[in-house]
Amino acid sequence: MKLSPQKEIIVGILRDRNWHCGSEWLNRIKDDRIRISELNKGYMLEKGYVIKGEPCKGRFCGRTKCPLDARKAVPLTPLATQQSKDEREAMLAYSRELVRRFDAGEPVFSVV
Ligand SMILES: [Zn+2]
Repeated sequence: MKLSPQKEIIVGILRDRNWHCGSEWLNRIKDDRIRISELNKGYMLEKGYVIKGEPCKGRFCGRTKCPLDARKAVPLTPLATQQSKDEREAMLAYSRELVRRFDAGEPVFSVV
């Protein structure tokens, strides 16, 4: 998916997955809320992330009484993205086995 230059700026800044005050792109981007909401419905969603917002209040830019929102890209499903593919498949296989045992009337959790 091709990003507009403005969205590219936001994605580039949020790439490190830390909080960033909106002042970091304020001068370069118009209507950042709209861009961010579009990103959340498109590009970020595709990548498995969502851009969250919280009032900065100077926590991230250091300017007291900063009225802007700070943003951060967070994984939509932390487990799914942190787990390796193998782990995920093992978990799925395990859940399927539990369901199979349940359906077959076997003890679901075997006592070791
Ligand atoms: Zn700020």
